[in-house]
Amino acid sequence: MKYAPAKPPLTGETLATLTARLKEHGEPAFRAKQILDWVYKKRARQWDDMTNLSKPLRAWLDATFELMPVSLVLNQQSEDVTDKLLLELGDRSLIETVIIRVPQEGVGLDHSRKTICISTQVGCAMGCVFCASGLMGLKRDLNAGEIVAQLLQVCYREDVRTPRAHMELASFDNIVVMGMGEPLANYDAIIRALTIVNADWGLGFGARRITLSTSGLVPKILQLADEPLGLRLAISLHGATDEVREKIMPVNKAYPLAKLLPAIKTFSEKHGRMVTLEFILIEEINDSLIQAEKLRDIALDLHAHVNLIPYNTVEGLPWKRPSITRQERFADILRDARVSVTLRREKGHDIDAACGQLRLKTEKDRELAAM
Ligand code: SAH
Ligand code: SF4
Repeated sequence: MKYAPAKPPLTGETLATLTARLKEHGEPAFRAKQILDWVYKKRARQWDDMTNLSKPLRAWLDATFELMPVSLVLNQQSEDVTDKLLLELGDRSLIETVIIRVPQEGVGLDHSRKTICISTQVGCAMGCVFCASGLMGLKRDLNAGEIVAQLLQVCYREDVRTPRAHMELASFDNIVVMGMGEPLANYDAIIRALTIVNADWGLGFGARRITLSTSGLVPKILQLADEPLGLRLAISLHGATDEVREKIMPVNKAYPLAKLLPAIKTFSEKHGRMVTLEFILIEEINDSLIQAEKLRDIALDLHAHVNLIPYNTVEGLPWKRPSITRQERFADILRDARVSVTLRREKGHDIDAACGQLRLKTEKDRELAAM
């Protein structure tokens, strides 16, 4: 399960680690900043683009680091506003990065707000019964460089629909760590990656615009509460009682609501910011009005925002989304109590946007091709 690339990715280096590595090689400290500027500010795509470095230094860098550890395999554009990048890693593993555009009134797609959804593992070990990423189990963790590289791939791609992509370093407004994998099960790599994304010598992207979503690993939520980064937190709740949650999320056995809810409270008190509770609506599993009432009480107690997400069907799984009327009735119970709630109209249904589905399909195609 451990993956050791032949050369470590440059995108996994911090200013401190790169400086130390260069020092060992007899280079002055300022070189590290120069190199990182090429990667994050000028988006150099090959070592030879780094023209203020000597040829021998470029050759050493090439022999020592992988400049870009992920390559674009497929860019699937939907008819609405969601694009999906299928990326291949050094060991041919596949991951997904999704770009979600939210058009702003009166300005059209060109100036839409963009949210990038990144993956943190190949597959996932948590085994939530409704999720495509969970179906294949965990193949391996991503390293920090592979996590950061997903964002650079978004910056690189020629996006005819958004001229902003050519004008800004980070051509997106928000990052959500909600792709394939359980980020807190790959804790050190995700913290290192987001530190690089946030740093002024890296992508310079504000931590308040980064939301990390977890299925509820309590000790790691408490650890995250003490990180200086200041990320936003979303919790995949999906059940407002242990009885319902346990049926669909095995993690609830180790960390039932009696442990999870106080941990969320600790996090939001330390950060002074609202946590989001994600609640997928699945027909006849968690869409009863009793669940809505329990969810309302939890949200009021935690002073949390609730994101209701109509379930996205996954090939091979039996679950369905409830009717729109049922979704609205569920939401109304929360709204009536003045809980801050959004009922998401999901984007990209036509391009398998739910977590892990495009990869699942491509893996299956590969298996068929190999037969
Ligand atoms: N592992 C983390 C982050 C990745 S999953 C977590 O579970 O929070 C990102 C979100 O997508 C989670 O809220 C997850 O429950 C949700 N999700 C998974 N499969 C889905 C589906 N088929 N339809 C809608 N949402 C789904
Ligand atoms: Fe893993 Fe999140 Fe999917 Fe659960 S919902 S299997 S934690 S990716």
